Amino acid sequence: MKDSLASSFEKIYGCKAEVFAQAPGRIEFIGNHTDYNAGFTMGVAIDKVVMVALSKRTDRKICFASIKSGEVVEIDMDNIERQKREYNWVNYPLGVFKFLLDAGLEAKTGFNMLDMSNLPAGAGLSSSAAIELSSAFAMSELYGFNADLKTKVRIGRKCENHFVGMPCGILDQGVSGFGKKDALVFIDCKSEDFSNAPLPSTCKFWLFNSTKKHALVDGMYEARHNECMEASNVLSGGDSRLLREFSIEDLESKKAELSENAYKRAKHVIEENSRVLSAKEALANGDIQMVGKLLVQSHKSSQMLFENSCEELDFLVDEIIKNKNVYGARLSGGGFGGAVMALTNENFGTEDAQEIEKAYASKFGKKPMVFTCSAGDGAKLV
Ligand code: ADP
Ligand code: MG
Repeated sequence: MKDSLASSFEKIYGCKAEVFAQAPGRIEFIGNHTDYNAGFTMGVAIDKVVMVALSKRTDRKICFASIKSGEVVEIDMDNIERQKREYNWVNYPLGVFKFLLDAGLEAKTGFNMLDMSNLPAGAGLSSSAAIELSSAFAMSELYGFNADLKTKVRIGRKCENHFVGMPCGILDQGVSGFGKKDALVFIDCKSEDFSNAPLPSTCKFWLFNSTKKHALVDGMYEARHNECMEASNVLSGGDSRLLREFSIEDLESKKAELSENAYKRAKHVIEENSRVLSAKEALANGDIQMVGKLLVQSHKSSQMLFENSCEELDFLVDEIIKNKNVYGARLSGGGFGGAVMALTNENFGTEDAQEIEKAYASKFGKKPMVFTCSAGDGAKLV
């Protein structure tokens, strides 16, 4: 991939790239809707990446090109503004550059940039975080800017939240930054601490994308968010502690003061936080069977308590966990459609996946999109 990117770079810009960096996509492993409740979550960086190449220019232009389009987008570095419509993709590296400058990166001249990817974009694998983190690594290196990993992760998220305008949590950039081969990334969303939990190299991930997206997904996401805030307001007596701070006993003692929905959402979040901690412990002990059980419990809780699952995802989980090579499966991501993630051993293969596709197709009249990967390294120079 690097050789191919290097030769395309020379063709497009007529000079050699000086710096290369890559960053992976991610899958939410466990910890569903816990992030904005200041809780715990875990993700896996996958072995599919966005790679970027950069060289310095002698003027004050910054130039962006993607292998996909080949077209070069030229921007004056003294006048960085959000790009519209067909150049929307430029906002990811552009916003990262802007916030690196704000953080103290000194650039006398601009740069040329080209990116390449084997990570599907817009498939819920966070290609956006991958392009942000690979850009942050390459730009910091090109200008000799010494930012630590956490700073780069935060700049990636800031770009996505405040430049692109997508209000994602820290999972996407945190996992793309802190990922490690044969490991998961554990995140404490309150302290924004990241650590790794070991995963046997024989474990594989399979994603079954229902290709369904609920028409009202943004509104439903907001409703869940509001119900969680309603519950934490009641539990904290208005002192703005989030659900992370409370136990099931705290919740039960205030049940009478809560609407049924607020109670159910809070129960999911509080128990999900415990499941993430249990999963971390089970991984440390090498108990993958237990991890699998927790994944299924997480799904059932989304189904029954948080009510962000749907018929398609429930069907996929039920079918997938019938297979003896599967440790566990759950909906991954916001819910209301989207994908189911399965954790399997290495014996789970294409034929197993096809059986599930067939069962799904005979019930819903279309096949799910299937994707497999392993746990890969986080962002790095290459
Ligand atoms: P996801 O992050 O789940 O893949 P998003 O909608 O958040 O989905 O981000 C996808 C967008 O990120 C694409 O539409 C594109 O603008 C940008 N993007 C992702 N990968 C690349 C890439 N390799 N080159 C250019 N832009 C990219
Ligand atoms: Mg994204």
